[in-house]
Amino acid sequence: MTKALPAHAQVVVIGGGIVGCSTAYHLAKDHKADVILLEQNKITSGSTWHAAGLVGQLRSSASITQVLKYSVDLYKKLEAETGLQTGWKMSGCLRLATNQDRWTEYKRLATTAQSFGMDMQLLSPSETKQLFPLLEVADLVGSSYLPTDGQASPSDITQSLAKGARMHGAQIFEGIGVLGFDIVNGAVAGVVTTQGTVKCDRVVNCGGMWARQIGAMAGVSVPLQPIKHQYVITEKVDGLSPDAPTIRDPDRRTYFKEEVGGLVFGGYEPNPITWTLEDVPSTFEFELFDDNWDHFEQHMTQALLRIPALEKTGIKKMINGPESFTPDGNFILGKAPELKNFYLGCGFNAFGIAAGGGAGWVLADWVMKGEAPTDLWSVDIRRFSNFHKSRTWVNERTLEAYGKHYTVGFPHEEYTSGRPKLKSPLYDHLKSAGACFGSKLGWERPNWFAPKGVESVDHYSMGRQNWFDHVGAEHRSVREHAGVFDQSSFAKFELKGRDAFQALQYICANAIPKNDGRLVYTQLLNTRGGIECDLTVARLAEDHFYIVTGTGFRAHDYSWIADHIPGGLDAKLVDVTEVYGTLSLMGPKSREIMQKVCSAHISTIKFGDVKVINVGGHQASVLRITYVGELGFEIHAPLATLPDIYSALMRQGPVNAGYRAIESLRLEKGYRAWGADITPNDTPLEAGLGWALKLKSDIDFVGRAALMEKSEQPLKKMMVGFTTEREDVVLLGRETILRDGKFAGYLTSGGYGYTVGKPIGYGYVRNMDGISADYLMSGSYELVVAQERVKAVAHLKPLYDAENLRIKA
Ligand SMILES: Cc1cc2nc3c(=O)[nH]c(=O)nc-3n(C[C@H](O)[C@H](O)[C@H](O)COP(=O)(O)OP(=O)(O)OC[C@H]3O[C@@H](n4cnc5c(N)ncnc54)[C@H](O)[C@@H]3O)c2cc1C
Repeated sequence: MTKALPAHAQVVVIGGGIVGCSTAYHLAKDHKADVILLEQNKITSGSTWHAAGLVGQLRSSASITQVLKYSVDLYKKLEAETGLQTGWKMSGCLRLATNQDRWTEYKRLATTAQSFGMDMQLLSPSETKQLFPLLEVADLVGSSYLPTDGQASPSDITQSLAKGARMHGAQIFEGIGVLGFDIVNGAVAGVVTTQGTVKCDRVVNCGGMWARQIGAMAGVSVPLQPIKHQYVITEKVDGLSPDAPTIRDPDRRTYFKEEVGGLVFGGYEPNPITWTLEDVPSTFEFELFDDNWDHFEQHMTQALLRIPALEKTGIKKMINGPESFTPDGNFILGKAPELKNFYLGCGFNAFGIAAGGGAGWVLADWVMKGEAPTDLWSVDIRRFSNFHKSRTWVNERTLEAYGKHYTVGFPHEEYTSGRPKLKSPLYDHLKSAGACFGSKLGWERPNWFAPKGVESVDHYSMGRQNWFDHVGAEHRSVREHAGVFDQSSFAKFELKGRDAFQALQYICANAIPKNDGRLVYTQLLNTRGGIECDLTVARLAEDHFYIVTGTGFRAHDYSWIADHIPGGLDAKLVDVTEVYGTLSLMGPKSREIMQKVCSAHISTIKFGDVKVINVGGHQASVLRITYVGELGFEIHAPLATLPDIYSALMRQGPVNAGYRAIESLRLEKGYRAWGADITPNDTPLEAGLGWALKLKSDIDFVGRAALMEKSEQPLKKMMVGFTTEREDVVLLGRETILRDGKFAGYLTSGGYGYTVGKPIGYGYVRNMDGISADYLMSGSYELVVAQERVKAVAHLKPLYDAENLRIKA
């Protein structure tokens, strides 16, 4: 007899794949939540049952690596708890390199692994062969080896998690499909199912490739796309060890895994095949597509060259199954911005088995506490925006991301599909002026300007790239004269209402100006004191504030602010990103230039002022603020007026400059970048931003209590700037910091400072016994860059400061 659905559950998890079962397990076990899981068919019957089962751990984000490491720890010990095996085998993983670019990528990867506490080894071709004697290694430069990676049985782990969830009180219902939601006051009040409605407090959409259409039932946009993915299972391979490591051979676009004496192998094609742009049928249960040997031939050819023994081995079976992929290759977690209590864990890009255990752990915490437990920005649903509602755009970009799965990851690489999407009115003009554009959350933004006779195209490489000198010229012009940056893509919000000031005082860690016409730079903190947003708030009037934040943080920051406006206050948030454009005029000559195009007395605009004045014939809000460490003005004006204002400014002789120059300039000045240097895991105290806190006042704000507690104890990490003695080093972030020869942390960002003439990096130096300026400056430092130790100098003050004209390096 089938169990009856309860009338109410605290949390309803939708989907019985590995992610739903892991989430239900952690909700029940870690949080003692009253949780039910609804699966329209049978547990594992979506994408999970046919996964190949490779489990890798290393990602470019420390927190996501932590999530994947957690999966491995869980898969190791789950059987002891539930009595059901997970098939976990720590076979290790070999990644093969056949060219120097790939080899450099692995050297950097091994350094990242070391930064994140993992021992990735670099092996010669013959050492590689010793670990997997059947490999043809003649074309190899070498390989990387991570001994703690492995493989597991996707269905077994999922059944084990489901059993664990039940043991901790979760109820799992198979054969019950979700048909819709009752939504009341912006929150899900009930889940409508094929067996009636369940009232609930929170919903978690773990619907795999169905998650998009489940989201749509609640008005939530979930940008993912089902794509067909194939692998084959061979007969027994002579001489194959059961302990053989898994293999990733990205230059041949293939992967391999040992399975009962045979091999499982598949790959990532440059020409992937979308499944459907329609809804995925609810009846798709334990189903596969027809074998597509024509499409698989490319992998077959490459696999035979790598493992010649396969020529004599029969194929038992082909698996051609769908999996959901996303436009940036990362999965999707977190609270949907559209609703108050709708969470997601989906879009796993063919690493849902590797990620499932850990994703369920952090997602359960997020669901119960309303706040991510660690820095999950790279997988946060709020990294997407409104235009991701376009299915054709998502499909196009997702196919590109899938096709790049195994290509060499060059620094600064840009996607090419689905562009241009959002353009400033200056786009065509800047293009003809030589702009080479990058794209950020849909916006085309000039990265750099090619001088006459130079092609405005990035040539990617592992060393310095073709734009290096041209960005240097823009940088110097800004330092010595003035440059104009089109920063129209800035996310911009207005907060209006009688209680707007009160709301901002509570949401922001810095004091909100009491006078009209003033602005403040502030962080927005979580309850742990970690930095959730980093932005500028300008007070236009007592009941009218203008908020400016980074392009990529539009949905994230909007929803953080909206979610934290205390109930009952009169304060309404509106996104005005596409109403106003922004031109930043920066450099020592900027005041002179402004004076020539404005009627107002520019010298009366002091640092931190915002004034509405006429610029180039149009009303504009002028914010006296800088991200490049120079005298400068941000001019915010209705988008349509931007070309006039731009022309007026350019007639006075500043240069065009782009985002790569901004990056170099801000590194010299030591400004922090959110998502890299400052994240939800870092407090302003640790980041050297204690001066931007109103702790001395008695005003309450989100994160205050945690900061007060932390300020009474010694800090365990502090942000430090570094320059390297060698000038030719390429710093990218995640390089290991050694203090007196021992691990002390890793870089959060890296680049080059053209004024100081040196590579620059920032990162937290850690010491569990406490840290101080004396401790920091008394050490001797090296950075490990692509496995090479490079001498470095630590700096606690900006490397360049325009006001004091201090240049230190
Ligand atoms: C060929 C192939 C090989 C792969 N190999 C690997 C690998 O080696 N390593 C790795 O880590 N990953 C691999 N993957 C990826 C892995 O399979 C997925 O990432 C993972 O299974 C996703 O799990 P999930 O729980 O998100 O989705 P699913 O397993 O698809 O679960 C979603 C569930 O939601 C249910 N559902 C949907 N709609 C509703 C509704 N309205 N009401 C109720 N229930 C609903 C579905 O029936 C389904 O069971 C591979 C994928 C493929 C296709």
